[in-house]
Amino acid sequence: REPRQRKPDWIRVKAPTSVGFGETRALMRRLNLATVCEEAACPNIGECWTKKHATVMILGDVCTRACAFCNVKTGMPRKVDPLEPEHVATAAAELGLEHIVITSVDRDDLPDGGASQFVKVIEALRRNTPNTTIEILTPDFRNKHERAVEAIVAARPDVYNHNLETVPRLYPTIRPGARYYASLRLLESVKRHDPSIFTKSGVMLGLGEERLEVHQVMDDMRSADVDFLTMGQYLQPTPRHAKVIEFVTPKAFDAYAAIARAKGFLQVASSPLTRSSYHAGDDFAQMKAA
Ligand code: SF4
Ligand code: SF4
Repeated sequence: REPRQRKPDWIRVKAPTSVGFGETRALMRRLNLATVCEEAACPNIGECWTKKHATVMILGDVCTRACAFCNVKTGMPRKVDPLEPEHVATAAAELGLEHIVITSVDRDDLPDGGASQFVKVIEALRRNTPNTTIEILTPDFRNKHERAVEAIVAARPDVYNHNLETVPRLYPTIRPGARYYASLRLLESVKRHDPSIFTKSGVMLGLGEERLEVHQVMDDMRSADVDFLTMGQYLQPTPRHAKVIEFVTPKAFDAYAAIARAKGFLQVASSPLTRSSYHAGDDFAQMKAA
């Protein structure tokens, strides 16, 4: 199929100009924290930061991988910051977060892939903001995932998220450093280690995937016992990145959501601007109240 680059009307976002936005940015700078909101050029930054919802990206802002859809810098990563866990906890407290999403770059250079830093961040949050629920969005930890998952699960985050990102056929071009079935196994092993932790995963649509392939990904997730699903439109961050093949209509997102619910996901977020961390706190609170 031919790429489509002009954004349709339903991809409209507010310009980031509010007071809350400025305060969120100042806090992140002061604490020397990177966010996926900025690094991934997320279209929701105006809305989320106005409400002081930010997704912190730990382990620096330089990734050892180079996925075709991702705006995060690739290269030689910096040294791990030992103050980062406390800084994340301070940010959660100052932003007044009831729910925090923590993600990271891939650190294939570190012996544990960065798992111990996730553990330290969870511990710092539990100490400083015990009422904040914690959602982590981790990399695949490549061939170290068994030990990494074991360590992180023992620290007991509330939600463990790992995105499959796209259908298996598109992995070689879109997510070349990763393996679809390894990511599925990671999700499955979280549940194996601790069935009380909610698992979550997501895909981007518009990269050339077929409808039935998306249904298959949902089935694969359910067979790995994944609880929550997010689906959003892929947007090309710069001309160097993978092209948008299709703008999936809001109606088609709704149709996917209906199918996903029928397949048994506890919670489904599916719309053009859905991202893993978009409204994650509200959705989690709603699910727990239900
Ligand atoms: Fe940040 Fe997530 Fe909101 Fe995007 S959707 S701005 S990544 S919190
Ligand atoms: Fe971006 Fe994650 Fe891929 Fe790194 S591994 S390039 S942060 S999507």
